[in-house]
Amino acid sequence: MKLCTKCVMPETAETLSYDSQGVCSVCRQVEFKQDEIDWEARQADLDRLIEAYRGKYQYDCIVPFSGGKDSTFTLWYLMKEKGLRPLVVRFDHGFMRPTLLENNIRTFRTLGVDVITFTPNWQVVRKLMFESLRRRGDFCWHCHTGIFAYPMWVALEKQVPLIFWGEPSAEYASFYSYDEEEEVDEERFNLLVNLGINAEDMLGMLDETVSDYPVTARDLQPFTSPPAADLARMGVRSVPLGSFIPWDVRKQVDVIKRELGWQGDEVEGVPPQFDYEKIECFMQGVRDYVKHLKRGFGRTAHLTSIDVRNGRMSRKEALKLTEEYDGKRPAALDVFLDYLGINEAEFMDIVAPHVVEPHIMPSLADVQKNRTNQVPPDFDKWSRVVGDRTKDAKLG
Ligand SMILES: [Zn+2]
Repeated sequence: MKLCTKCVMPETAETLSYDSQGVCSVCRQVEFKQDEIDWEARQADLDRLIEAYRGKYQYDCIVPFSGGKDSTFTLWYLMKEKGLRPLVVRFDHGFMRPTLLENNIRTFRTLGVDVITFTPNWQVVRKLMFESLRRRGDFCWHCHTGIFAYPMWVALEKQVPLIFWGEPSAEYASFYSYDEEEEVDEERFNLLVNLGINAEDMLGMLDETVSDYPVTARDLQPFTSPPAADLARMGVRSVPLGSFIPWDVRKQVDVIKRELGWQGDEVEGVPPQFDYEKIECFMQGVRDYVKHLKRGFGRTAHLTSIDVRNGRMSRKEALKLTEEYDGKRPAALDVFLDYLGINEAEFMDIVAPHVVEPHIMPSLADVQKNRTNQVPPDFDKWSRVVGDRTKDAKLG
């Protein structure tokens, strides 16, 4: 497989292209961010935006919040640096880890903020996970869509028209570049959030696998972008904070650790020095593993590439860590298979049609030899409740 000559991202990564020197588009975007953007002017844009909304509504803005490093920093920054009174909106994807929940309590109490949490119906979530794995080789449709759509519904309901997200997508993909204004809206939702499946499509797909819990259009509303006309009428602006200030994850993690006592966690398939990344979901190891089966790279390639671009790691070291950590079969896979009521051979069969060339998926025998010995410390605390209402737990 062809890799970027500057970082370690391979050609199978979504939206990535290479220039004549073999440097990937994300590396070029980040150079652009570092050298070409007038961040002082962007900061002034941010202040203008904030002042247009401050004090006019029940809350100054909404901060969609997972408790990970990006949303925690975003909340801290808007409250402490800009003096805003936000409403925190949390979408509970079903797999929040104990350390994350403790971090959240510490953050909310320290900053002093109102919080709304929404937990979607688990029986619906289970079906959505199965169906999106089957259709797209990505079981996180409910999470991608819910994390975006639910706060937008709250914005409508509470009439709070300013929404701040964290990281801009130009940091990791090439859907938008740094010189384009990234509005977190329905267009972006269809482009990079919903895997090309809207709720209507999903409903049609689910009909084929109805058991004794039929899913209806009402069940899928939290995963649907609210009508664009309603949002426009309210004058909604929905933007990543990272479009206005230069996003620097390592510096930001230092800030939230110091100011909020935020703690990192061990994540499957990730070297311990990256303990700040994706600590919010105990299915993360499975997600990264599926990506590796499909595309031949995992979270470590992504993380070390960021450090390489920022001059904090050599490409050689990045390649070594990638080799050592990416693609190991995670312990969480067993929990995941139980949730869906499938065995590992069936799981491999479901993933196989989604493999991206020229990567070749390993065999079941190969992956079983390539298990990780790294079991996260909170592994035994993850809910094993499947709550299946049918005699046969299988969804497929
Ligand atoms: Zn690159």
